[in-house]
Amino acid sequence: MKRFKIAIVGAGPAGYFAAQALQNLADDQSTYDIDMIERLPTPWGLVRSGVAPDHPKIKTVSKVFEKIANAPGFRLFANVELGSDLTIEQLKDSYDAVVLATGSPRGKKLGIPGEELPGSLSAATFVPWYNAHPDFKDEAIDLSSHTAVVIGAGNVAMDVARMLALEPSELDPTDTADHAIDALKNSAIREVVISARRGPEHAAFTSPELRELPKLEHTNVVMNPEDISSAIIRAGAEIEKDTKSNLDAMTLIAEREPTSHDRTLIFQFLATPIEIKGNGKVEEVVFQRTGSEETFSIECGLVITAIGYESPALEGIPLANGKVVNNEGFVEDNLFVVGWAKRGPSGVIGTNKSDAAEVMKILVSKLNKPKDSGDVTGIITHNKVVTQMHWEQINAAEVAAGEPLGKPRRKAVSREELLNLGAL
Ligand code: NAP
Repeated sequence: MKRFKIAIVGAGPAGYFAAQALQNLADDQSTYDIDMIERLPTPWGLVRSGVAPDHPKIKTVSKVFEKIANAPGFRLFANVELGSDLTIEQLKDSYDAVVLATGSPRGKKLGIPGEELPGSLSAATFVPWYNAHPDFKDEAIDLSSHTAVVIGAGNVAMDVARMLALEPSELDPTDTADHAIDALKNSAIREVVISARRGPEHAAFTSPELRELPKLEHTNVVMNPEDISSAIIRAGAEIEKDTKSNLDAMTLIAEREPTSHDRTLIFQFLATPIEIKGNGKVEEVVFQRTGSEETFSIECGLVITAIGYESPALEGIPLANGKVVNNEGFVEDNLFVVGWAKRGPSGVIGTNKSDAAEVMKILVSKLNKPKDSGDVTGIITHNKVVTQMHWEQINAAEVAAGEPLGKPRRKAVSREELLNLGAL
């Protein structure tokens, strides 16, 4: 029996699905012991700090993650950072293979004047802020203006716009960070404009997300019927199934009678942002009507860009176009990559399952003889490692704290608070 040691860096969906694939590939000749390394004191990646809190069903995949974590040969080493607590070279030397599942946490930039003004930020800041990510808890998000503009026509833009436009007491029974619920309850924002540079037929939203918008109980959702009808004409008879489903969902929204709610979410199509203006802070966004020379402005005090993500540079890892340079997940030597760090920020959580399974097949095919070497326990020098046992304690404490409040959990926010819950 050959017993290989695999290190997976990053405890998000891609990391867990890579671990699961390795567990499934074990047979009576080879097994794979997995050490999962995570920078934060908590695992689950975007399932904890990305998925919108008003989408609790999507988070039930965490049950699968916990099953993977409790299988024999799996160990969690959270609160351990690649770069400061250990290097990629150390991991490559100690393990038979190393799998990067570090995602793409950086928001892409528009590259237009005024983007750096206070009041202009990326969904890569706003989303982890409302989801209680320790690194974003102190962000001061200015919610004092009447109008916010969200730039981008994907599901992240939709999450961001919905979080800004819904009645904040709807978040009480969710695991939204307490600081975000408080701030949103004090928010002056009553109009959220979600802007797409192309037409409705090219929007990257998916139809389940569009179809839930009319169910918002306290928000008027507005689409211009002419925008949708002309998109249907442009899309023509040979329309793709997903596009048709999107346009059907948009037609339902556009045809609805306006309601008297004081909160409004407006879709602005064919609007290419060209400048953000303001005296010391955001005051307006200037758009070009896509395909024409015409420009127009929207006055606002907050701009959130949700136009995609990229991976940051990590020492010792080749990077290009915001992704780790790879060939079907193989990077170099005994290093592999899965998830958004491999293919860029696309697909839903489940996409990572088939993706990781393909890469793990290649990884296993390259293994020969197990290394006789150490592991992370010989490298990490601090004593604040969150193991699976500690995490289960943190998890149970959060769930228990949420129960009397009718929430699935009440998230601890700071690293100290999280480590305390784990008795570390
Ligand atoms: P996305 O789906 O790729 O959408 C990005 C949007 O940004 C597109 O509309 C794109 O427009 C626009 N954009 C890009 N560059 C731009 C620029 N310079 N100026 C203006 N607009 C620009 O990305 P995402 O929303 O970040 O989502 C990432 C992935 O996570 C997606 O696969 C998404 O479905 C998934 N996700 C799923 C859920 C869910 O299932 N509920 C929730 C969140 C995220 P163009 O098309 O014109 O380039």
